This record gives sequence, C-alpha cells and structure tokens, in this order.
Amino acid sequence: MTSTGAAMLELHERVKEYFPYSTVRPSQGEFINTIYEALENRSHALLEGSNGLGKTVAALSACLPVAKEHGLRVLYAAKTHRQHDRVIEELNVISKRMDVSGISLRGRCNMCLNPLITQHTKDARAAMEICELLKSRERCSYYMNRERNSDRYNDILLHVSSKPYKASEIIEVCKAENFCPYEVTKFAVEDTDVVALSYMYVFHPTVRGAFMRHLGKPLSQVILVVDEAHNLPNTAVEIASDTLTLFVIRQALREAETFNRPDIAAFSKRFQAILKKMLAQTKKERLISPHSLIEALEREAEIDEPKFFFEELHEAGTVIRQALLTRGKHPRSYIHRVGEFLLKWLETKDDPSYAHVLSIYLTRRGSVSGKLEIIALDPAKITVPVFSAVYSTICISGTLEPLASYARITRLPPETTVCRAVPSPFPREHILALVCCGVTTAMQYRTAGMYRKMVKRIAEVARYTPANVGVFTASYKVLQKLLDAGLKNAVKKPVFAEYRGMTSRENDLLVGKFKSYAERGGAVLLGVQGGRASEGADYPGDQMNSVMVVGVPYAEPTPRIEAQIRYYERCFPGHGRQFGYVLPALKKASQTAGRPIRTLKDRGAIIFLDYRFATNYCRQFLPLWISRGLKTLPDEDGAIAQELMLFYGLTDAR
Ligand code: SF4
Repeated sequence: MTSTGAAMLELHERVKEYFPYSTVRPSQGEFINTIYEALENRSHALLEGSNGLGKTVAALSACLPVAKEHGLRVLYAAKTHRQHDRVIEELNVISKRMDVSGISLRGRCNMCLNPLITQHTKDARAAMEICELLKSRERCSYYMNRERNSDRYNDILLHVSSKPYKASEIIEVCKAENFCPYEVTKFAVEDTDVVALSYMYVFHPTVRGAFMRHLGKPLSQVILVVDEAHNLPNTAVEIASDTLTLFVIRQALREAETFNRPDIAAFSKRFQAILKKMLAQTKKERLISPHSLIEALEREAEIDEPKFFFEELHEAGTVIRQALLTRGKHPRSYIHRVGEFLLKWLETKDDPSYAHVLSIYLTRRGSVSGKLEIIALDPAKITVPVFSAVYSTICISGTLEPLASYARITRLPPETTVCRAVPSPFPREHILALVCCGVTTAMQYRTAGMYRKMVKRIAEVARYTPANVGVFTASYKVLQKLLDAGLKNAVKKPVFAEYRGMTSRENDLLVGKFKSYAERGGAVLLGVQGGRASEGADYPGDQMNSVMVVGVPYAEPTPRIEAQIRYYERCFPGHGRQFGYVLPALKKASQTAGRPIRTLKDRGAIIFLDYRFATNYCRQFLPLWISRGLKTLPDEDGAIAQELMLFYGLTDAR
C-alpha cells in the first residue's frame, strides 16, 4: 500500500465521501475514477485489475454516490457466497461514515428452512417452483408465520433493510423467529442500497422476472456490477442451454404408469427407443438435426402436433406435482421435465445460435447412458437483454484481456463502453513469471519422455519453493500421466491430487489438508486448470508460494466445440477459433496463474510448463500483470532452480 494523501486527492469529491480507508492502493484510484466517470456519463465500463487492488470497495465507492444521487439501486453480481459476504463487509466499513444499507441474497436452496426443499432440492428452478406451490397452498409454516406474527415480522424487515446484512445473518435471525429468510430478504431488497447476489438473479430470465418484482425498480434504474466478469460468457451459455437424460425419460415412463396416463407412458417408451437407436449410431457425441428428432417422434411415437403434445406433457406434470404435494410428498415430476425440454427443443430448432447434441456419458455408478443437449452458442442471448436495459454495467475481473474481444462476445456496445486495464498494484519484485522451453502438452508431443521431463521440472520447483506448490494441468489425462511418470516419488513433499468426479466437499477437504502444510515444510496440490481448486480457492501467504501451469488447457475438439467455433466465425469473421477455442483456454490458464497472489503482501512464482505460453500468439491473451515480466527459460535442468533461489532468497543447495 502506498500512502496517499496525494492519491486520495485524485479521487472525485463525491467518491471521497464513500471511500472508507485513509489510503488508496496503487492503481485503485484510477480504477475508482474510471467507474465513477463512466457512471456519470451513463456508460458501461469494462475494467481489468489484478488481485490485491481492492476492487470490491473501489466499485462500491464509485457506484454509491451516483446511485444515491439518482435514486438507483446497485446490484452486485458475483459467483460465490464468499464474494457476496465481502461486499457486505466493505459496506459495513462504509456505513461507519455514510448511511448505506445492503444485503447479500442467496438462492432458495440456501435460504429456505422448509425440509421439502432443504432435503430434496439442489436445483434453483425446481426450488422456485416447489416454493410457489407450497405458498399457494398455504403449506409452508415459515411463510404463513409472517401473517400470524406480522408485527414482529415487520420489525425484522425494517431492521434488515436499514444496515448491511449478510445472508447468513438473516438466516440466523429468521430461524430464531420461524420466519422464512428468503421471503424476508426478498422484501427487504426494496429498501436497500446494494444487493449482492448471484449471476442467476440478474441473467436468468425467469429468476430475474421474479426478483425484479420485489426490487421495486426497473432495470433502467439499476447499476449492475459484474464481479469476476470473466465467468459471464460461460454462465450465460449455461443459462440458455438445457439437458435431458435417458434416466429422466425412464422415470417419466414410471410416473405415467403410476398416475395412470397410458398415452404418456406409451410416448415415453417410444421416445426411449428412438434415443437408444440414435445412441447406437453414436461414438461419443454428435450433432443431430433438431428436425430429425421431431420427425422421429411424429413418426414412431405417433405425435400429430408436437407442440400441442409437449404442452400437454408440461401441463400433466404440473397436475402431478400438485397431487404429490397434497399427499405431503416432494412435488417432483419427470413428465414435467420432459415436456419443458421438448418445448425448448422445438423453440430452438431453427435457431443457428443453438447446437443440438446427442452424447454418451458415464453415470456416477459407472454405467453407460445417453443424453440430449440443447447447447447455446451465443452468450449475447442472455447478456444483451440485461446490458441494454440497465442504467450502467460495470464488468470487473483480474483476467478480461483482450477487453475488446470480451466486449464483442458479450455485445457490450462499443460506443458507450469504457475499456481499461489498470496497472497491477503489485511491486514487480513480488511476481516471478517464467515459461519453460522444451516442454508442452501439445498432442503430438505427449510421449512418456515428455511426461518424465515435466515431472523433473515439477520436482525442481517443489524443491526450490519454501512451502506449498500448486500444479495445475491442462486436463485429467495429463494429470494421470504425470502420476504414471512417477510424480509422487520425484517430489519430496506430500502430494494431494484431485480426481475426476470429486464432490465439492471432498475437494474442500483436500485443499484444506494441502493448505495445512504451509507451516509444515510445504506440500504439492495436483489439480486441473478450470477446476475448483484452481479457480474457486485462494491461497494467500505460504498456502501457495509457487504455481505451475502445466500445458495450455485447450478443450478437446469435440463436435460442440467445432459448432462453437463455426458460430463465432459466422458472427465475427476471422475470429471464430480465437473466441471459441483459444480465449477460454487462456482464461483458465490466467485464472490458475493468479492463485498464489491474492493480497499485496504476497509473493508468488508462476511457472508455465509449456513453451507455447512464450509465443506472441498466446502471450497477447494473458493479462498485463503476467505478460509484462514473463521470462523464457532455456530447456535445461537447474534453470528454474536458479530463478527460484534468487526470488525466494534461498542460499542452501537443497
Ligand atoms: S416460503 Fe420460504 S421457507 Fe417456505 S418453501 Fe418458500 S423459501 Fe422455503
């Protein structure tokens, strides 16, 4: 941190009232003023700033004066609960000098107290539908309590909306009084300055529709902050996509038999048979013509009017759900799911921004099954309705470069979007970024000899790093090959390895154990780029001194990836491969590289174990704070050791 009486003076007067700290970090002033000026001009802003800059408090300090002046609401969209809590923590500091309120909102699955949802539902959409059913039938006591005990309920509402409140705090207050925390939060949002929430509330059309009714303001009066905005294109595509497995169709058949719907049972049986026939001609995955499935259903399942029949499935599912609820059972209907999916299939069948895929997959029990997927190829389907309606959008992240490409993919309007990458606040000597020549995970060079050489380099890094090392590979295949090449024996520190299909709890435990070695001589965490441990977790201090990025994590060139590249090529001639293949890979690598450097005090070594990172082509897609000091090492034993000894100030020969 620099001081900063001088830097402080550079902030706009109105912002100074809200910025709660006595010092402004390097580059933080530029970050704040860029946002403030964009808002004053009613523009959007796309800002890259590395970790340690203090982006959350910077965005809040810039947005709040404008929001207060114009009667706007700030929606702060972020991916994790931890990030939502961070917003409330910063608001708490701001509230010591200015009158501000805010809440962090979690989904029903996390805030609900009703066992019908807490014990059976992990899916947000299902939770919403079940909750609405329960409420309409007056079968949720937590919901009903607000009328039975309205004075106390109103007191709590008033309190929650008058100061910054975390979702976990609201849950505790409501548990004690038997009120629904989700309902309290939903009504409190109308009177709070800032709502920290997941992307879903803003970008999922159905969820947004319900949420906006409670906000009491249209999108035109919303300043939207999108934190970790590099995630947005992927999230948008996930929102607009859908999947139907053979398992669900099989369950729909059983449900139809149970509820005495022979017409639906017969349809489900034939639908299953059609899919199995198609799967028999499928190796792993293939694109299919959406029309061919509809035609097969018309012909073999004897459906005259598909739209009419799919709507009937949907309707029959709704009736079954209500019947289940009346019997006090979990109101899930597989027929409803099938109807919903087929209606979407019909709706997207002539839309070139969707690919329709049939694929074979392994179930959790290890058996082979199949699924149909509707894959959205264009994030703009989801982002444009939001970006074009809000007062301003502020997209921030540590890995957005190249900003112009991001703006094009998400369709932020170029004429009203300010793009800026602010310099890293880290002193240069805190980051060592190296690329090793002579190693790569490029397909044609994946030999046993190559993996042995990589293991040697990893062992060298582990040996010359004071404590913990993260090693993140391009894929699980590469990870396994490193283990096969003797990684565990070569590295003289305990190795904790991720594996495919690990649950989030198992992953948290693994990461926790690895972190505990920070004080005990260090360990090695072996994972994949784009995984939980390389994107969702932070490793400040000695929890990760060095990180190794093993290979460029290009996706397998599957039919869906090829469809994505072709689609982008049609929309952005000459950029299809870059937008659909290269950028997502480099984004994963950049996120991984940033793991050890979270606070300004951290020092971290980033070692890219693939010569391709040194090429101008890849380098242009890395964030400035990495690429500016990137050093290429010769293909020699000991080259990394020399650099690490200097960087960490090691004197012993080890
Ligand atoms: S009203 Fe609240 S407690 Fe009841 S089901 Fe809905 S979210 Fe759960």
